[in-house]
Order: sequence, then C-alpha cells, then structure tokens
Amino acid sequence: MTENKPKPEVIPPTGIRFQLACLNDSYVVGRMAFLTKLSKLILPAGHWGGIDRSAGNQDPEQTSKPPLYLTFDDGPHPNTTPYLIELLEAAGVKGTFFLIGENVERYPDLVKQLHDAGHVIANHSYGHKFMPALKTSTIEREIVKMNDSVAAITEGAPTLFRPPYGLMDKRVAACLREQEMTAVYWGSASEDWLLPGADSVVRRVMRNMRPGLLIVLHEGALLKNQTVTAAKEIMFRSRDLGYQMQKVEVPA
Ligand SMILES: [Zn+2]
Repeated sequence: MTENKPKPEVIPPTGIRFQLACLNDSYVVGRMAFLTKLSKLILPAGHWGGIDRSAGNQDPEQTSKPPLYLTFDDGPHPNTTPYLIELLEAAGVKGTFFLIGENVERYPDLVKQLHDAGHVIANHSYGHKFMPALKTSTIEREIVKMNDSVAAITEGAPTLFRPPYGLMDKRVAACLREQEMTAVYWGSASEDWLLPGADSVVRRVMRNMRPGLLIVLHEGALLKNQTVTAAKEIMFRSRDLGYQMQKVEVPA
C-alpha cells in the first residue's frame, strides 16, 4: 500500500463534501429555474431553446436525435477560445459564441478562427453594459457597433443577440427588430461565472438536461480550466444520453 496517494481531482460521489456540493447545486439550480421562469414572463419575446415544431423541425420518423445548444458568452478570450475551438473540432460540434464587441476588436484573429471553424458568432453587446439602464441611443450603439466589429472581420453581421446579465427591455427589443435580429436567452445557467469549479457546472447543467436545452457557459481570463473541462464533460455525457449538439439557428 502506498502512503502518498495523489489527491483525487474529482470529488468522490460519497462523503460529506459531495453531499454539501449537491445541496448547494440544488439551491443554485432551483434559484436559476425560478429566475428563468420569471424572466420568461417579463422579458420581451425571444428564443428560449426547446424544439420549435412550428418551424418545419418536425421529425415524423423520429430519426434525428434531440438537440442541445452549447453557447459561450463574453469571449473571445485567448484563455478559452482557442481551447474551445480545438475541443469542438475534435468532437465534431458547432457552438454559438456570444461575443463582446470590445473583445472582438482586441482579438480579431480569434473571431476569424471561430468563423472559419463554422461556429455561430453572435452579439453580446459592444461593452457588456446593463442595457435597461442605458439611453436609447446608447443601446443602439451597443448593438450596432458590436455587429460592425464582427462584419469588419467576417463580412457578415451577427443576427442573434443575448443581453448582458440576461436582461433587456422594450427599447432593446425594438432595436433588435430594426436590425432584424433575434434575442436569445438561456435554458440552463449554472452560475459558472462565480467559479464553482467544473464538477459543479457539469452537475448543474446535467440536472437540467432536456431536449432543446440552451446551455450557457462563460469565457474569460479565469475560466480556462472550468469552461473547457465542463464543455468537454457535458458534450460527452449528453452524447451518451442520445442528444446532439447543434448551432443556435433562429429564423428571422
Ligand atoms: Zn455576459
């Protein structure tokens, strides 16, 4: 018997630490479910995931697998984007990246790489501000300036928009209509921005697993290990359950 066993990286599925982690997950999952329900009532119309059977997505022979949508917010960032591109490439999965305009201008090469790899580049505003607090003219600038920053690199502007902090108002909705864009919200937010660790993120997302789930993970300087590890694990586990990752594509 060796005395110096390496510390396990993953919490074993027994013991008090695991029980406490699960309890905390239940609290977070419950809180997010409540906030999502409330948000669906008060936010302007938009895409919440699920399977849109009215848009010609019926599958009478049920040959296709139920979809899931893997989305990443706040990029691009050199600590996450290149690793996610590599991971998704290896898994044959296309993701949807809600980028911040300021980061697009800072890291244009990463935007080009995302575009060339066939991922969807979407709008998460130019400066990641809390939209309802902005003047209408600033709201327009936040959306249009971000689109312009992408168009300068990929020659195509995003058509999907996810509001920073998940909140927007009627003025933002009007601006999106004018730009022929669609709001995309979320189905499962794991509070990964609080850095709970990849294990927690995976457990929280898997507890929400259902056809058409819109999964949100975050990019950023501190998120490399957590986001890349969680994305990998979620892809493998959901594939084992018979799901198929797809790009977010919403008809205008
Ligand atoms: Zn964000």
